[in-house]
Amino acid sequence: MKVKVISVLEDNYMYLVIEEDSKDAIAVDPAVPHRLLEIVKREGVRLTAVLTTHHHWDHARGNEALVKEIPELRVYGGDDRIAGLTHKVTNGQELKFNTINVRCLFTPCHTSGHMCYFMWEDDCTDSPAVFTGDTLFVGGCGRFFEGTAEQMYHNLTEVLGTLPLDTKVFCGHEYTIKNLKFASLVEPENEKVKEMLSWARARDDDDKPTVPSTLLEEFEYNPFLRLSEEGVQKFTGQTDPIEVLRVLRKEKDNFKKRKERVLPHAMLALEWGLLRP
Ligand SMILES: [Zn+2]
Repeated sequence: MKVKVISVLEDNYMYLVIEEDSKDAIAVDPAVPHRLLEIVKREGVRLTAVLTTHHHWDHARGNEALVKEIPELRVYGGDDRIAGLTHKVTNGQELKFNTINVRCLFTPCHTSGHMCYFMWEDDCTDSPAVFTGDTLFVGGCGRFFEGTAEQMYHNLTEVLGTLPLDTKVFCGHEYTIKNLKFASLVEPENEKVKEMLSWARARDDDDKPTVPSTLLEEFEYNPFLRLSEEGVQKFTGQTDPIEVLRVLRKEKDNFKKRKERVLPHAMLALEWGLLRP
């Protein structure tokens, strides 16, 4: 199975998974349908299904147009709010597309109906893949819009964290640099964070994606998967892993806001001559 990483909108990823023998293909979060269809055509494959991680516009907005274009298309997801949904899936449900197997992993928190998709191919030695939407990012995790720290802890530790370590992680956004800047604030001594951050910056300079990572790598630098590490506990002032996660997410929210709040105002003030550079 081949996974094509397609960057769309500002920083989203959609994916096209191709089964090379049958030339059937599955799309994950195809937010820009015309681009997806161009690639489907160019690759000479047949799009049979869409897997949607969650109902947010930047993940599900393409579904209806795709169904219009391909009426027999099956659109899977775990939330009735997903546009164009034809097949609602539940936790642990397995889907089969020729030799490709998909296990649906219910991971509510970012949204209450969020689903991740674990994928592997029969008789194939390639590592499996997991499509994590806005639950797990390279170096980070999604915001808790419709859920709790308890739920995200379950998602990260019991659901995603127990997948095989060589599982390739394909997430919903390119947030890697921002995430790793935060990770280096949390664990300034973590060499893996430093290495990964400079690698991610080089990828960014070349306009190349940082996905996929592997679950093993995530355990090495992603603070949201390192809740029992001394440095992460120290940063949060907590020891209970759920409390560590709660504080970590709150700090990350503030980390983001701080930048968004301060920069534009300071720049405007500069423009108006209120601040001396
Ligand atoms: Zn989202």
